[in-house]
Amino acid sequence: MVDVVIAGDRVLVDGAFRPAAVVVEAGRILRVAPLHEAPADAIRLADDEVLLPGLVDTHVHVNEPGRTEWEGFRTATTAAAAGGVTTLIDMPLNSIPPTIDPAALAVKRASAAPSSVIDVGFWGGAVPDSLGHLRALWDAGVFGFKCFLAPSGVDEFPHLDRERLDAALDELAAFDGLLIVHAEDPEVLVRHANAGGPHYPAFVESRPEEAETTAIEAVLDGLRRTGGRAHILHLSAAAAVPLIRAAKAEGLRVTAETCPHYLVFDEAHIPDGATQYKCCPPIRDAANQDLLWAALLDGTIDLVVSDHSPSTAERKFAGAGDFQVAWGGISGLQFGLPAVWTEARRRGVPLERVVGWFSRSTADFAGLTTKGRIAAGADADLAVFAPEAPHRIDATELRYRNRVSAYIGHDLVGVVRGTWLAGSPIDLDGEARGRLLTRPASPGATRTASSSTPS
Ligand code: ZN
Repeated sequence: MVDVVIAGDRVLVDGAFRPAAVVVEAGRILRVAPLHEAPADAIRLADDEVLLPGLVDTHVHVNEPGRTEWEGFRTATTAAAAGGVTTLIDMPLNSIPPTIDPAALAVKRASAAPSSVIDVGFWGGAVPDSLGHLRALWDAGVFGFKCFLAPSGVDEFPHLDRERLDAALDELAAFDGLLIVHAEDPEVLVRHANAGGPHYPAFVESRPEEAETTAIEAVLDGLRRTGGRAHILHLSAAAAVPLIRAAKAEGLRVTAETCPHYLVFDEAHIPDGATQYKCCPPIRDAANQDLLWAALLDGTIDLVVSDHSPSTAERKFAGAGDFQVAWGGISGLQFGLPAVWTEARRRGVPLERVVGWFSRSTADFAGLTTKGRIAAGADADLAVFAPEAPHRIDATELRYRNRVSAYIGHDLVGVVRGTWLAGSPIDLDGEARGRLLTRPASPGATRTASSSTPS
């Protein structure tokens, strides 16, 4: 009982494009057949289209419930689907309550269930009050635990000091849980605090690379002591790349991600007062960006995620252009793939590498072995992408609750023409067919050798 066959000359299978017919049955890929076996009623890709696995974004702030005026499950998952993303994992803040215990997770799940057009999983939070109780939230199905090492920006999600970081790693090591870390050191930030203003480089000086390297060294020390697992979120400082590379060579169980905004923007091109570009850690200079690209290509950085962190326009533009006052977070969920692909193309990096960082690598990191790949047995989550189609991003096409983004007005190459979830096309304005995910029984987020392999 085959439901549908999707056929085309360029289907991404095992990290390479080839002609294929993807046979779908009951929401899963039954097999990937030679193109000539495609039946007459197969759905055919257009000549300028490629078929990709649905993207997996493991770093998204949906903010519902509690700050639903910033974003929400319906708007976030619709924007994701418009961008080819078929799975997201939601961060434990800035919703209220934050996802720091099983009761709060139940509240989150109840919010997400009726509204999500793609599949959704959840991170838990490691905050001072949840230490000592992390196992219960792990058993309830979160994919791991997020902590901050410096103030998070919201009062209900306090950061862990050095002693509590060590306590969290000790606690997680007992059940091989994963700690995902916002790695900026608070003392370095205090030492570099400045008056701010509308000039982006002054904001960058207030959050120097040293803040990231100091915090990452603390995490690596903890891994060396406990043998545990940790992941460095939104790496911006290229100065930290050698630390992570050496830690992996040493056998420490660490992975790292970066984000499209660090790969496509640089501080010299951010206009004065343009606080839609504010994020923490900040966007640094072009030389730093080159080193992040090199670290992705050599596997030191494992994956690319949006860190979609929206707010209302009032908060994003609070302070009338003062970078110290505006909300820090970039809305990028809908355009991550074309943004990074546009820059990759300029740099001579092939599309199959880029897609791997957004799909196979993120899925493996989360242990979602039936996601992020076009293969027999995988979920039939797919994206149709026209990689050479030019596109200028207009605010009116944004599906976020707040039509604010650093990407508005930018000229990109590559358009997502359609997204499939479990074997059916997603209707962006239709039924919410997304499923809630819990952490798979045997975590796939293991040593880094596997996740640095191109898809
Ligand atoms: Zn984040």
